Amino acid sequence: MALEEYKRKRDFRKTPEPEGKVAPKRAERFFCVQKHLASHLHYDFRLEHNGVLLSWAVPKGPSLDPRTKRLAMHVEDHPVDYGEFEGVIPEGYGAGIVMLWDRGTWTPETDDVDAALKKGDLKFTLNGYKLKGSWVLVRTGGRYAGARGGGDRSWLLIKHRDDWSGDLDITEFAPRSVKSDGDFEDILGEDTPAIWQSHRPAKGGDAGAMLATIIERAARLKSTARTKATRDADVENARAARTKDTKETKDTKGKPARRKTQTPAIAQSKKKK
Ligand code: MN
Repeated sequence: MALEEYKRKRDFRKTPEPEGKVAPKRAERFFCVQKHLASHLHYDFRLEHNGVLLSWAVPKGPSLDPRTKRLAMHVEDHPVDYGEFEGVIPEGYGAGIVMLWDRGTWTPETDDVDAALKKGDLKFTLNGYKLKGSWVLVRTGGRYAGARGGGDRSWLLIKHRDDWSGDLDITEFAPRSVKSDGDFEDILGEDTPAIWQSHRPAKGGDAGAMLATIIERAARLKSTARTKATRDADVENARAARTKDTKETKDTKGKPARRKTQTPAIAQSKKKK
């Protein structure tokens, strides 16, 4: 194992460890992704480090496709306890429904996580239920500075190419909780949903109407998901028909079939004709 090798090599290092870091530097730590239906749907990506959860809000969620870089806004550290939370935040900052979308362990691919964070380039390996393999978080250096608060809070979450990368849309393919297997409505509809009290008041006049709005949105999201499934089937049928047409067109005869856009893996697997 890489860690064993690291430990062996480490005995020969002359630089003493910084205080308070007795654990092996590349040891596995907890990570989670919480899908959070608040004022905006987003995915909170959290890595345990030095007793807290480093946190990034990823509006579109992680992508398994190395070509798809996902904006990740660095937000405040969260308590480690929060990492297993799934339930309802009734009011205040982050009011809404929290789903534990993925959890597992992460291993830094560097000896010095703090230096990597400072540099704005943290490589790591995930071992979750949905997310696995090698990833990187890269600070954009203000490239998105104009967008919603921006500045150096903007990072990109990118999958490295490996056995766990691909063009499967993981947020669509596996939208539910790893803790309860529920969706937002199920979490909300539990007899006694877990409640997390936010210690920070919501910005502006958000507080009161927020939860009611979110409950409505959870219901709407569920019906939208159903509609979308139907629409996807239609798109697939249309695509299958178009592919058939193209094959029968003279000027493409004899040439190898080459599409300009890749058909998502999910659609291919469902195609039966
Ligand atoms: Mn959040």
